[in-house]
Amino acid sequence: MVSWRALYRDCGRMPVSPVMEPIYTFAGSPIDRAGQYRGDAAWMDARRTDPASRILCLNDLKAPIDLNGSPRLAWRDSGASVPSDALFLGLIEGVAHFAADVTAPDADAGPGCKWIDVRSIAPSIAAGEAAILAQARSMLDWHARHRFCAVCGRPSRVESAGWSRRCGDAGCNAQHFPRTDPVTIMMVVQGDRCLLGRQPRFPPGNYSALAGFVEPGETIEEAVRREVLEEAGLKVGRVLYHASQPWPFPSSLMIGCHAEALSSDIVIDPDELEDARWFSRVEARAMLTRAGTPEAPRLPPPLAIAHQLAKAWIEGRTAL
Ligand SMILES: [Zn+2]
Repeated sequence: MVSWRALYRDCGRMPVSPVMEPIYTFAGSPIDRAGQYRGDAAWMDARRTDPASRILCLNDLKAPIDLNGSPRLAWRDSGASVPSDALFLGLIEGVAHFAADVTAPDADAGPGCKWIDVRSIAPSIAAGEAAILAQARSMLDWHARHRFCAVCGRPSRVESAGWSRRCGDAGCNAQHFPRTDPVTIMMVVQGDRCLLGRQPRFPPGNYSALAGFVEPGETIEEAVRREVLEEAGLKVGRVLYHASQPWPFPSSLMIGCHAEALSSDIVIDPDELEDARWFSRVEARAMLTRAGTPEAPRLPPPLAIAHQLAKAWIEGRTAL
């Protein structure tokens, strides 16, 4: 197995995977999920009682961050006693890593450590650590929201080392799996200009790519065309996939695309957008740096795949 440290050593904040797709924030986890062991009770018991195993505890979905030096995840030693309902994240260099919910007002993050919101700390920790947080946060949030069977309403219990839940009623016995919600996020372009919009909730001056959930019975490309038509009144032709990004708030997968506009006149949906307009490539480049006055139009920070979609188009790394 390739060491993740070796993989990322020279790659900085934006590593490229061995198969050359871009890896953005919350992607590129160093963890081997080792799914073949999730149902192996004997193997899992041995890992739970192994003093080398480690636990990542989340408090109200906030991450324990060690602030002694550069910010990093504050893993706890297992104490050879990992709780039976802890989530098996996987293996790092052969060592089992778990996640557990310790939500309590007085939960201690550890010496020199603080509980910090995942979104705000992600840009400041190693890329692989942000990806681990995405996995842990989405899964612990799913367990917190799915304590009851969706079929019969009775309590359900954790199984498969945290990767599914089983209804506690023997007659029902329904099994439930964590969900991931696909979201298309698309930078619409036409020649040398791009479409960006802003929602009323955005900070002043912020513009971004349009986005929306993929609906049941819909392809990614169809979702892109529908969302752009609904939100901005534009027809879209070609849709090119760029990259995806886990977005653990709570459980989305952002599917980043570039899309070619076939019409020009923008008609915004006021329920979704406060403004949408065309920006030139030169304007978009300036917006990437977030320079200028607070009110000057700007794009989201590098954490967001919208930033990366814009950057790829500005730098000519898309066929549109
Ligand atoms: Zn049930």
